[in-house]
Amino acid sequence: MSESEARPTNFIRQIIDADLASGKHTSVHTRFPPEPNGYLHIGHAKSICLNFGIAQDYQGQCNLRFDDTNPEKEDIEYVESIKNDVNWLGFEWSGEICYSSNYFDKLYGFAIELINKGLAYIDELSPEQMREYRGTLTEPGKHSPYRDRSVEENLALFDKMKNGEVEEGKMCLRAKIDMASPFMVMRDPVIYRVRFATHHQTGDKWCIYPMYDFTHCISDALEGITHSICTLEFMDNRRLYDWVLDNITIDCQPRQYEFSRLNLEYTVMSKRKLNQLVTDNLVSGWDDPRMPTISGLRRRGFTSASIREFCKRIGVTKQDNTIEMGSLESCIRDDLNENAPRAMAVLDPVKVVIENFDGEAEILNVANHPNKPEMGTREVPFTRELYIEREDFREEANKKYKRLVLGKEVRLRGAYVIKAERIEKDEEGNITTIFCTYDNETLGQNPTDGRKVKGVIHWVSAEAGIPAEIRLYDRLFTVPNPGAADDFVSVINPESLTIKQGVVEPSLADAEAEKAFQFERMGYFCADSKESSKEKLVFNRTVGLRDTWAKIGD
Ligand code: ATP
Ligand code: MG
Repeated sequence: MSESEARPTNFIRQIIDADLASGKHTSVHTRFPPEPNGYLHIGHAKSICLNFGIAQDYQGQCNLRFDDTNPEKEDIEYVESIKNDVNWLGFEWSGEICYSSNYFDKLYGFAIELINKGLAYIDELSPEQMREYRGTLTEPGKHSPYRDRSVEENLALFDKMKNGEVEEGKMCLRAKIDMASPFMVMRDPVIYRVRFATHHQTGDKWCIYPMYDFTHCISDALEGITHSICTLEFMDNRRLYDWVLDNITIDCQPRQYEFSRLNLEYTVMSKRKLNQLVTDNLVSGWDDPRMPTISGLRRRGFTSASIREFCKRIGVTKQDNTIEMGSLESCIRDDLNENAPRAMAVLDPVKVVIENFDGEAEILNVANHPNKPEMGTREVPFTRELYIEREDFREEANKKYKRLVLGKEVRLRGAYVIKAERIEKDEEGNITTIFCTYDNETLGQNPTDGRKVKGVIHWVSAEAGIPAEIRLYDRLFTVPNPGAADDFVSVINPESLTIKQGVVEPSLADAEAEKAFQFERMGYFCADSKESSKEKLVFNRTVGLRDTWAKIGD
């Protein structure tokens, strides 16, 4: 395992250390609160590693809470995928799964409490008017004409809203705070609205739904969360978070802390945009191996250890930042270089005939890992007809080209030295066959007469090899920050997927889905979890052997 052992330190852990040292808290309770309106992505992994990681390291607890107050956009499919992804990343939530919708009765009660205290009112401004009355960053807002209704009137109207007697958009419940506040979120924020939507957890029980800012802090308090960690865009909302908890009767005061979200070059992280890629069929689904989703990365061959390691390496700060794709890839490369067994596959085959080899296949034993004898060996058949990579042969080449050249020698990985004697071409001039001879004294040793053979290429037996579809992936977008483009769809990379019809060595016939191999010289690959079968093998390239991102844009 290449995951580093040391515990991370960051400003949030320093706050926790101080809170434990001062006795403010005796234990730590965090939560991860996704909205089930899409699949989790690598940005969520940062938040998951932070929240669950803290619970692990401090022997505390971390809840998984679905923040489900938007029934129209949410779906049970997302709930299931999120649970699955959190577990796959290696984390286990404390106790039962939580849903904000579990607290709808209590939230309703707290709304009544605010009304009774004169701190909330039913507004009837239209959404447009409300926007107009809100003011701007430089100008204070105006009071709604409905702001000073009596408590009785507010209670009666809220009851009508709850009973389905009010149309969507005609009335809402607003907190009565300060229309002149420099923080826009404090200008009488809406806390309840009417939505005639069936909810994936509560069905048709409710037709009023609480807003995020009202729900989140109360859910945290009800669950006894000590440190409520979210991303920087919620900084101003912290005022409202505290205001709500200060003004209702609840005996827990969690504190909100913000950190900067993860941005990754050449991809988008907004769920709205990822959803559009899926619904417009611009990718094959949320788990398309080109997607920055946890399920996409997993299908592509990323290990959960490599994603945890990535989150550790990027750290947690308050600075806005964008991480290079190369950083994520170096984590998976470090892991697989250590741990992935080697195998051979030819992606663009050209046939080689060994003219002086006769008879049955010779079974060679080849090491699964060059530096790890404990990983054992596998049987690789050597036969008269083989495939090599088309780009590994040239009719003529200078000394820098250390592969097979007409009239010269090269070593076949794990096998013999061969010499290219002559070639055959089709009518278009494409090479169809390379006729070679082999030196049967060179298995595992150099030629005895002192001839130097420098190059080593990979190969697969033509008779025993198995055809396989091999999918090569490139960045999904052509620009580093596609989210900033006017139309992010217009900067999709048309060459993000290349399909090759290759051949793989027979030991790969039973390759387990998502289990990584290093295909010698070609990169790291795994069998596709959805589309690979015994009848048709399909491999995804997880990542190449070397960082190619650095070159982009040069
Ligand atoms: P979007 O804005 O695309 O809908 P979101 O942030 O609203 O995404 P949630 O499901 O609400 O998505 O996110 C759950 C948790 O994950 C939140 O605490 C959020 O702050 C965190 N999170 C989301 N995106 C990132 C990111 N890119 N980096 C770090 N944390 C993130
Ligand atoms: Mg959100």
